[in-house]
Amino acid sequence: TKFTDLKLDPKVLKAVIEAGYETPTPIQAGAIPPALEGRDVLGIAQTGTGKTASFTLPMITLLGRGRARARMPRSLVLCPTRELAAQVAENFDVYAKHTRLTKALLIGGVSFNEQDKLIDRGVDVLIATPGRLLDHFERGKLLLTGVQIMVVDEADRMLDMGFIPDIERIFQLTPFTRQTLFFSATMAPEIERITDTFLHSPERIEV
Ligand code: AMP
Repeated sequence: TKFTDLKLDPKVLKAVIEAGYETPTPIQAGAIPPALEGRDVLGIAQTGTGKTASFTLPMITLLGRGRARARMPRSLVLCPTRELAAQVAENFDVYAKHTRLTKALLIGGVSFNEQDKLIDRGVDVLIATPGRLLDHFERGKLLLTGVQIMVVDEADRMLDMGFIPDIERIFQLTPFTRQTLFFSATMAPEIERITDTFLHSPERIEV
């Protein structure tokens, strides 16, 4: 597979080529086509396999030209740690640089004020740790009913950190019709239970 075979938005393809990537990694070749068809994806992959691009590139393509409304993000990326969320945000900026999509990073240790302002203005993509996301929700600052695409990254680490109840809660706050792209390095029974409950006939890709 080549990147040009993947039906990505030309603006995304341009950014990928500028990043110096020549061929998709196995997780990218496996996950991007079903994601672009609107299917749920269950990706079993470690860090370093290129999994960030495997959900970010189709997400940017699918969000296309739509516009975000105040307090209603159109997509959500959940990460176990601040560091990982910040890395995903950096990757998003690289891959979305030729688009007009907007993002906000919601992580602990940063004042609510700046994050509130961004959410109020309306963002296409919210990249967050689960606890901080729910803090904003409880404060009545955020609605998740406009989420079309939800990504869960490094679910196995979410499990280790005790975030599974938060993840379940967040799934329940998003529309049933959302598309879910779910990634984990391993499939513990607790994670299997979550994917059985919340993913709809996912395409399973293991690398
Ligand atoms: P990740 O597993 O998402 O953390 O990605 C690991 C590293 O691989 C990152 O530094 C990416 O920039 C890089 N990368 C991702 N996809 C590709 C690709 N198709 N070709 C070359 N490098 C890539």
